[in-house]
Amino acid sequence: MDGRKIKVCPGCDGEFETDDNRVKYCSDGCRRSAALNKVKECQKVKNKETNVTKKCCICNAVFIDTTINHCKNTCSEECAKEKKHINYLKWKNENPESYKESQKKSITRKEKIGYWKKYRIKKRLKTIKKN
Ligand SMILES: [Zn+2]
Ligand SMILES: [Zn+2]
Repeated sequence: MDGRKIKVCPGCDGEFETDDNRVKYCSDGCRRSAALNKVKECQKVKNKETNVTKKCCICNAVFIDTTINHCKNTCSEECAKEKKHINYLKWKNENPESYKESQKKSITRKEKIGYWKKYRIKKRLKTIKKN
């Protein structure tokens, strides 16, 4: 008698032979993936526990905040966008100088893009002429 036993691996449902009673899994891979699954399950439970029912600050709809730090205050992508827009308008009202600055910057950026486009076209025309 050599004490070998046939066991079923809980990771892959495959049968394997072992003489060690403590061995549960057929391989290191199965043991590791099982450990990972356990961690995932724990995280799922944690997330469930941290779910908080909130009211959307834009449309007043009730929604469930599943984020870990409960930073959500809008029910949907659309409301989040709306909130961003409102925040932007608020910022614009409160910081008219900064708004003007940012507008200027965006204009010069557009002008630069236009300049480079023209530059590239000129360059292309030159090389065409050379050929
Ligand atoms: Zn296995
Ligand atoms: Zn909403």
